[in-house]
Amino acid sequence: MKVYFDNAATTAIAPEVLEVMLPLLQNVHGNPSSIHAPGREARSIIEKSRKKIAQLLNTSPSEIFFTSGGTEADNFALSSSIESHGIRHVISSPMEHHAVLHTLEYLAKIGKIKLHLLEVDQQGNLNYEQLEEWLKTLSPTLVSLMHANNEIGNLCDLEKVGNLCRAHHALFHSDTVQTMGHYRHDLQKIPIDFIVGSAHKFHGPKGVGFIYINAQNKIPPYLHGGAQERNMRGGTENIYGIVGMAKALEEAYQEMEQHQRHILSLKKRFITEIKTHIPDVYFNGMSGEAENSLYTVLNVSLPPSAQNDMLLFNLDINQISASAGSACSSGSEVGSHVLRAIGAEASRAAVRFSFSRYNTEEEVDYAVGVLSKIYAASISA
Ligand code: PLP
Repeated sequence: MKVYFDNAATTAIAPEVLEVMLPLLQNVHGNPSSIHAPGREARSIIEKSRKKIAQLLNTSPSEIFFTSGGTEADNFALSSSIESHGIRHVISSPMEHHAVLHTLEYLAKIGKIKLHLLEVDQQGNLNYEQLEEWLKTLSPTLVSLMHANNEIGNLCDLEKVGNLCRAHHALFHSDTVQTMGHYRHDLQKIPIDFIVGSAHKFHGPKGVGFIYINAQNKIPPYLHGGAQERNMRGGTENIYGIVGMAKALEEAYQEMEQHQRHILSLKKRFITEIKTHIPDVYFNGMSGEAENSLYTVLNVSLPPSAQNDMLLFNLDINQISASAGSACSSGSEVGSHVLRAIGAEASRAAVRFSFSRYNTEEEVDYAVGVLSKIYAASISA
């Protein structure tokens, strides 16, 4: 049985998405900036996609800008807003994705900002009191906190942070790459300046994403060039990707609750089954608390064993795809900055299993069965 449990890394393109992309790849070749008929056709397709995404997020199409993915959208939000708003202090966390953390570390290194990383506890919970204290004293400030952590599934309360930021006149950016298409984002309810999406995390194509920029904020372009994206992002638009992304988001929204229930039940089954078969197992971050974490991600902490070094390889030869992440930082294995931030034990193996609507109970049982055999072998060895 082939089992793909690495959906936080990327997802398979949905058949409905392919269905809308393929005829366009075959038939639409105009440059959306050209004024002739093929160009106008391409432009109109892009604008329909923008409108669809804006409607789903309950915002205006003028606040959605297409990018090459989540990394570019995060860089855009951070670099451009820091420049235009004269931001001196950025409050973030040590568990951010590198698209955010490395960008902020770079900006701190070249002296543009002072970076303040919040304390996190052993389960990866943010210290909101510290955030409030820092917001009282630091200014002008930008806060960047991800909605859901891609490794350990911790969720950040966007409304709470957004309200704190508004109260203290700070800008608020959230890397929503892992929750876009998996939760409903109502931008009339969340007090926020920038959020981002990446199509390949919700069954769309790779290499396309978007940034939402709240209309209250005027920020400069991040990619300079042509007049595309209303002068905000130069470069001929990835029309096929944009259409695929809009369709993928629409599909995700149409049956979101049903998908959520299905995926959550798989995660719960995985938790119950693996605890029965490997009693010394636990779960990193909040991911084991199925109802209080990102329902697509489970980060399993496996006991010290001779098998740990070969674990992913052993899963792979049994046709199970998952992701590693360890707290170790020795030698060439850099390890996971997230697991190190929460003080995860370096002697244990961490494997992230991440689920999608296409996974099944049989796949969960198969994966837990394979893991149990690997551990039984190591105990009897
Ligand atoms: N942010 C988070 C939380 C992610 O999980 C990812 C993807 O791994 C990214 C940003 C980067 O997105 P992209 O692959 O579209 O550049």
